[in-house]
Amino acid sequence: MIYPIVKFGNPVLEKPAEPVTVFDGELKKLVEDMFESMYEAKGVGLAAPQIGISKRLAVIDVTFKEDPDAKLVLINPQVIHTEGKFRQTEGCLSIPEFREPVTRAKKVTIRAQDLNGHWFEKTGEDLLARAFLHETDHLNGKLYISHISALKRDLIKRRIRKLIKAGEW
Ligand SMILES: [Zn+2]
Repeated sequence: MIYPIVKFGNPVLEKPAEPVTVFDGELKKLVEDMFESMYEAKGVGLAAPQIGISKRLAVIDVTFKEDPDAKLVLINPQVIHTEGKFRQTEGCLSIPEFREPVTRAKKVTIRAQDLNGHWFEKTGEDLLARAFLHETDHLNGKLYISHISALKRDLIKRRIRKLIKAGEW
């Protein structure tokens, strides 16, 4: 099932999500649906709050279907180590049409649970490191625009408010 992507303005995007405690078939189905929804929206990462489900769950595929082994499921993820700096233009499926450069760590290690509830650690660099931080932020109710200047952020918010008024958001 393909879920519609929740856009900026919906409060579910700005509140911390609840931990996942049940690792069952329903969770597996939700993860499959999240991958499908992410690919449909042409994204490389999707957090559950972005489909209106306030749970600490995210899927990532920075290769966008190129490498099946690159498909990552992060359940209850925590960032445990960051290193270096890397500035790159970033966007978000929940804030379509806008992109801004964001400085983030170059190398990031996360600790997360898999679909069976087993804990694992994974280190990513560059785009994958960025995805780890972007998706973990989502689970904490934080959007990438919180990492840009207040001036730019206000400009984006103003333009979104206009789009909402016009019924184009
Ligand atoms: Zn996002």
